[in-house]
Amino acid sequence: MGLSEITARLRAAEDRAGRAPGSVRLIAVSKVQPLERVEAVLAEGHRVFGENRVQEAAGKWPALRERYPDVELHLIGPLQTNKARQAMELCQAIHSVDRPKLATTLARLADELGHCPELFIQVNTGEEPQKAGVLPAEADGFVTDCRGLGLPVAGLMCIPPVEETPSLHFALLAKIAARNGLTGLSMGMSADFEEAVAFGATHVRVGSAIFGDRVPAA
Ligand SMILES: *Cc1c(COP(=O)(O)O)cnc(C)c1O
Repeated sequence: MGLSEITARLRAAEDRAGRAPGSVRLIAVSKVQPLERVEAVLAEGHRVFGENRVQEAAGKWPALRERYPDVELHLIGPLQTNKARQAMELCQAIHSVDRPKLATTLARLADELGHCPELFIQVNTGEEPQKAGVLPAEADGFVTDCRGLGLPVAGLMCIPPVEETPSLHFALLAKIAARNGLTGLSMGMSADFEEAVAFGATHVRVGSAIFGDRVPAA
């Protein structure tokens, strides 16, 4: 695998879905990866990366950005309100807006900072108790509330339950987005990104298929 193979497979998936080449954003999920693997993907010219923890992102990216100022960083993991400011200063997109308290905090900080990353609302499509995200039945109301706060809602995000067919979840997320007039769909990971593109993904989050397995530091 690796970046070039995944890029080629993504182009083919776009083509099969009748989508323009390059229209789906490939977020290279670099969490927990050794720095040399991240550097290698940067050296290949890729600039769009995803991290799931603010702390890890803050420890890694400011230094890399000095050499690669055009890096676009996406926060794809849960966000605590006390880390929201740091996340907004560091990231161009946040894919895990999942509760009213976080939405009001982001709105207040957006006023203060004068800018706001692109936001995705996470929907818990599998209604799993341990997983973040608003329930499908609450999604429409939450989208309305976020818009009411003036937040730049770009779309929706989901992480399907591991043991279920992902396409059912991709279809559900696409349906909720469509009825809310949202065009952004952050869905699809290493195992299922091509299927996600078939269901309308605009952003795929691919980690291990680009970088290799996430090995804990020795
Ligand atoms: C880790 C992670 C990914 C990437 O997972 P892979 O299976 O390695 O592609 C995608 N999305 C989220 C939210 C993640 O935490």
